[in-house]
Amino acid sequence: MALEDNSSVAIHNFITDIIDNDLKEGKEDHVATRFPPEPNGYLHIGHAKSICLNFGLAKQYNGTCNLRFDDTNPVKEDVEYINSIQKDVQWLGFTWNGEVRYSSSYFDQLFGYALELINKGLAYVDELSVDEIREYRGTLKEPGKNSPYRDRSVEENLALFMQMKEGKFQEGKACLRAKIDMASPYMCMRDPVLYRVRFATHAMTQDKWCIYPMYDFTHCISDAIEGITHSICTLEFQDNRRLYDWVLDNISIKSRPHQYEMSRLNLEYSLTSKRKLNFLVENGIVDGWDDPRLTTISGLRRRGYSAASIREFCRRIGVTKQENTVEMSALESCVREDLNANAKRAMAVLHPILLVIDNFGQEGVTQTQVEVANHPEKAELGTRTITISKELYIDEADFKEEANKQYKRLKLGHEVRLRHGYIVKAVSCEKDENGKVTVVHVEAVPNSIGKDVEGHKPKGVIHFVDANNYIEAQVNLYSKLFTDPNPGSVDDIMSCVDKNSLTIINNAKLEASLANAKVLDTFQFEREGYFCVDEKYTTAEKKVFNLTVALRDTKKVNS
Ligand code: ATP
Ligand code: MG
Repeated sequence: MALEDNSSVAIHNFITDIIDNDLKEGKEDHVATRFPPEPNGYLHIGHAKSICLNFGLAKQYNGTCNLRFDDTNPVKEDVEYINSIQKDVQWLGFTWNGEVRYSSSYFDQLFGYALELINKGLAYVDELSVDEIREYRGTLKEPGKNSPYRDRSVEENLALFMQMKEGKFQEGKACLRAKIDMASPYMCMRDPVLYRVRFATHAMTQDKWCIYPMYDFTHCISDAIEGITHSICTLEFQDNRRLYDWVLDNISIKSRPHQYEMSRLNLEYSLTSKRKLNFLVENGIVDGWDDPRLTTISGLRRRGYSAASIREFCRRIGVTKQENTVEMSALESCVREDLNANAKRAMAVLHPILLVIDNFGQEGVTQTQVEVANHPEKAELGTRTITISKELYIDEADFKEEANKQYKRLKLGHEVRLRHGYIVKAVSCEKDENGKVTVVHVEAVPNSIGKDVEGHKPKGVIHFVDANNYIEAQVNLYSKLFTDPNPGSVDDIMSCVDKNSLTIINNAKLEASLANAKVLDTFQFEREGYFCVDEKYTTAEKKVFNLTVALRDTKKVNS
């Protein structure tokens, strides 16, 4: 299967079982899902799982999926996030149904349903302080106790709730609570707060409101307003399903969505919490939300991940109710497989030393150009011309004066094949004052480009770049940002940030054809890894390349 096609592959999991059953029994006659991010940060790989599932289900069942901003907390939300989230969803290859939705555009309706609950004696204005509310709530072992304000009359509650709306109460001085059961075994059912006072300007509604509905009240009603059939969230909300159902069962709204929970994606060495990611961004620990070491969607994109590789990852991890943690290598293999199949090959020397072909220009050593395939298996990716001259760059790690048999690269007195070029034999070298090799002199085997030559059996192949025809670029090498496989569980996140996780090479030598590479183009730099053109810092004068992923999974190679 080509990776590009994977967005239309039918999936099968416990949610599709539920949907199949609902359709069969006539409980639903269509599928309507939604992806409901809170615009308080950029999307991460965990969100990709939810996006692929919700939009994927809509596609699979010929239904719809809405994009809805769950924007009920004006303090943390921002237009920058609203824009980045839309960009990321589209980049992942999905189209939402109709206009973008906002929970905030339902504030009038939500307020109306709150009045309905008050009128039915099912909600009351509480004037306990935040701390007292917590204290009265009890614990998992002990029931809570009723607030002294719980039995106010409907009239009194209506009047007080209007006063809340009119800004007559300071923050924390009053809230609206559902009247359910302070002894419920489910903490979320112990008279949960429905509305609180917040004097903050909202990104969408500006200063129209100073009371804001809580998630549990907003989400189910927003789902119902939009006619969502299957509302999928993560397992932490399992208990909250009681509240979801309680609200919908007690208000006069026709549509009746249902909530289903799946396990969240936890990925090793990766943060899947906007709050924690925000900490790294705010404190300048990383280069913004799109730092290529982060597993945000924008970070992965900048790193060189294709949308298809992220969708493929989400397909492979599947959807279950079992909590587990996925290894980073599972994500990496998806992009590696994609790039192995689709990325053009090129040559780049990251730590250059000079290689001089002493007999260049003599009989049989005069060829200055070779036309080579851009991909070993995909002729449709075309060809390019590589140039050769008397001076070439090779990587310093590819030459040793002396080495044992395991060393399959260039050593004095021995031969290697230059990739796409001559067979060469090292004859001497020059060193600087520190004893570091700076120049290697070689003799090329005449007429050896693209052919075997009697009596010459080079043990290895090394890559090169023409020292008289190249571009210079910055290359960013990345390793894991965190030293702990579960950074989200570490109290002091800074204690597990690896400050050496970015290595910058300023003067890498790249073959001249890469001058035409465009932002986000990906390449396999032969023998080095997969790289892409950085979209943030590449300029007309200088290209910047980011390491996407190594050629092989080093963990597997070593084990
Ligand atoms: P965060 O802690 O990063 O803010 P969140 O769950 O609060 O996560 P939302 O913006 O509210 O973030 O999430 C939007 C949707 O994405 C929700 O339906 C949520 O269940 C889902 N989601 C968030 N994180 C994950 C994850 N790690 N795995 C699967 N789904 C996730
Ligand atoms: Mg959240």
